[in-house]
Amino acid sequence: MHSKQTKLAGIYVHIPFCVQKCPYCDFFSITDQSLKQPFLKTLLREMDMIGNVPFLFDTLYIGGGTPSVFKAESIGQLLEAAHRIFKISANAEVTIEVNPCSINPEQLRDYQNLGINRISIGTQSFNDRTLDFLGRLHSGEDASLAIKWARKAGFDNIGLDLIYGIPGQTKKSWLFDLHRAVELEPEHISCYMLTYESGTPMDRNRQKGFFCPMAESLTSDLFETTIEFLNANGYVQYEISNFARTGFDGFESKRSRHNQKYWSFAPYLGFGPSAHSFIDPERYWNCRSVKKYIKKIEAGILPLEEKEVLSREQSMIEAIYLGLRKRDGICVDTFDKKFDTSFKKIFGETIAHLEEKKFLKVAQNRCALTQQGMLFLDSIASSFL
Ligand code: SF4
Repeated sequence: MHSKQTKLAGIYVHIPFCVQKCPYCDFFSITDQSLKQPFLKTLLREMDMIGNVPFLFDTLYIGGGTPSVFKAESIGQLLEAAHRIFKISANAEVTIEVNPCSINPEQLRDYQNLGINRISIGTQSFNDRTLDFLGRLHSGEDASLAIKWARKAGFDNIGLDLIYGIPGQTKKSWLFDLHRAVELEPEHISCYMLTYESGTPMDRNRQKGFFCPMAESLTSDLFETTIEFLNANGYVQYEISNFARTGFDGFESKRSRHNQKYWSFAPYLGFGPSAHSFIDPERYWNCRSVKKYIKKIEAGILPLEEKEVLSREQSMIEAIYLGLRKRDGICVDTFDKKFDTSFKKIFGETIAHLEEKKFLKVAQNRCALTQQGMLFLDSIASSFL
């Protein structure tokens, strides 16, 4: 047990730069690289301003954007500041996201030497036509190389991201991506369904009818194919989009420790523009502008955009939605204790109805979606409202 003073938490650092914007992406980033150095200086200052917090951090995640636009020297400054300002455990999981278009073997080795022990490679696909549609700057071969270089640099915890549900993609081409991924033996694979986020160029093109989104029946088929294929190849789905390779002990020890915090109400602090922080029941986030971010911090003001305090009801809904994303589902005991209630009593009818439809199962103190149920996560979660 950890006392309140040493509650485990995560740190997220958002690097808001990309070489080029991908048309489907709504993460905050800019392509004006001239702000990189002022941003870095400001980021260290933001960490200093937050300063003394009663947490022991066992994960630190450098995401974005494209963190690999920064060479190891800059990432080293960031890590040095984080270690100086915060209590970070000796065996912390330290992740950096890299883009195959902005990485080389030397840079990977340098990241490794800084103590980064997990690398997440934005692969998206190994198929050049698919990558083209997604507006990615790298080829399938570049992605394969990045993964091999990471292994050679000494990383023993490599994750890669893939996207499915892309117009023009077929079951055959998706299986090609999965095959290629498995061949490269990463410890972790994330498979995200392409979503059309409002305001993105891809969504505008969809609305103009420039292309036809994939039929729902095919995306469902690809989702099920993903689970079956990866299971058969030693990867276990532990969250709706995340798969970890099972070790010799049969356990998926390389689950993303950091991401699990998001699904389990654990506290995390976010730094950089647009980064979110959560300390139950408060959530707050920074502004989505590098210039504003720098200006505010230079004036000694935290660059907060908004803050919300989750009501008991909002927390319950969130616990259900996040819990159902996990293969292990919602822990009924933990839920009852947290909200001083009886999960089974208040949601008895909904649970019975969903169990009958084979969307949900409740067993041994856990309430989890079935594979079929995972296809309807949003509507199932909202039926608990
Ligand atoms: S998908 Fe990644 S590389 Fe592309 S714009 Fe978004 S953050 Fe940048």
